[in-house]
Amino acid sequence: MSHIALLPSSGMGHLTPFLRLAALLTAHDLKITIITPYPTLSLAESQVLFHFFSTFPQIRQEKLHLLLLDNFSGNSKEDPFYCHIDVIRRSSHLLSSLLSSLSPPLAALVTDMSLTASVVPITKALNIPNYIFFTSSAQMLTLFISFHTKANANLYEMDAFQIPTLEPIPKSWIPPPLLQDNNNLLKTYITKNGKEMTKSDGILVNTLESIEQESLAALNGGKVILGLPSVTAIGLLPPCFNQCESLAWLDTQPIGSVLYVSFGSRTAMSREQLKELGDGLMRSGYRFLWVVKDKKVDREDDKDLEDVIGNELTESVKERGLVVKHWLNQEDILSHPAVGGFLSHCGWNSLTEAMWFGVRVLAWPQHGDQKINASLVERTGLGIWESSWGWGGEDIVKGQQIAEKVSELMGNELLRMKAVSVREKARAGMELGETSVKMKALAKLIETWKKDRS
Ligand code: UDP
Repeated sequence: MSHIALLPSSGMGHLTPFLRLAALLTAHDLKITIITPYPTLSLAESQVLFHFFSTFPQIRQEKLHLLLLDNFSGNSKEDPFYCHIDVIRRSSHLLSSLLSSLSPPLAALVTDMSLTASVVPITKALNIPNYIFFTSSAQMLTLFISFHTKANANLYEMDAFQIPTLEPIPKSWIPPPLLQDNNNLLKTYITKNGKEMTKSDGILVNTLESIEQESLAALNGGKVILGLPSVTAIGLLPPCFNQCESLAWLDTQPIGSVLYVSFGSRTAMSREQLKELGDGLMRSGYRFLWVVKDKKVDREDDKDLEDVIGNELTESVKERGLVVKHWLNQEDILSHPAVGGFLSHCGWNSLTEAMWFGVRVLAWPQHGDQKINASLVERTGLGIWESSWGWGGEDIVKGQQIAEKVSELMGNELLRMKAVSVREKARAGMELGETSVKMKALAKLIETWKKDRS
């Protein structure tokens, strides 16, 4: 039996698609090991790992024990998740002995994109094929792998990032740290890992040919960068296990009536913006389920809801909605019949889940790849994006503006139907079996892994 190992990095946005991929691989007569960097930064990651390995006892867990954690915690200017990725990178030399000790020897390692530059040399030395899993969109991949070619140019002077044969990416969509002069962690991470991707054996993207055809054709046609290995659109990866949250409030709401509001696992809004958001939700007149987040890292999010949004707002939102300040399993919410819309920061996993369940989206990107993802919301017909709202924290978006956009989303039957047709696309090309869901592009790749080792 061929043995495949997977190596995710930091944050739910990276871990979740890896777990979904691992779960799919179990249907293909493979031995699967997941190497989990330890400790995780967020509580959500450690809880989901526990739950995952109890659900899939046939998948083996190996911990990569991280070094230098003490050195990283004090740097408050950088995003804690980028700092954690940096710790994993600095601990990656420990992988060499871990990978060689795995039995039977690996047919392939699937590595998170953020670890490309540090892990590819290790797998080359061990003669293990290394496939990079890119956990955002194919369009973001075009920027990721070509950014290093422009790293010395004055990006701030450009109007847009040009990639041959593709629509230019407007400067305002590019993650702001990439436009800065200084060498911040995001810039270093994209420059170094993007450059080394050509040395990998293949790249996997959780996306669909039907929604990202141009980007995928440019990537595979040598238009973005020469020498890139094959880029495979394996997705959309389906949810892999049900956590069966109790959603009693949702169960009592009419079908399609509730707007779900969440900005993912690592985005905290300012108190002022949260107040305006609460005001906007109330003014819209629609029912809502709102997950409030006050800190980027969930372990540090220890205030009560009232402390964060105030007593008055806490009381008034109860009339029309449910507001919580704890982790809810998003798949359970998006698959609930009462949910008819999603106000989202456009993390790539959130969008793939909205596509999978056919829920229309009001895009409000906050940072990172999210504006590029938001542009796909419009292009696919999944929903609407008010691009004048800018990045999270740039300006305060007023309650009245939010209310108008919520009404535009929730009151639009055409959008609801378009989101349903995106769902059809998302599920096309899948063979739905009783016990397994097999994806065709992935099945081809697996055949390659099996052949390479035979
Ligand atoms: N998620 C969740 N509950 C929450 C917040 C997030 O289940 O309260 C999940 C969500 O379904 C997604 C992942 O965490 O699978 C977040 O990844 P995404 O790429 O959407 O955004 P990020 O959190 O990385 O910004």
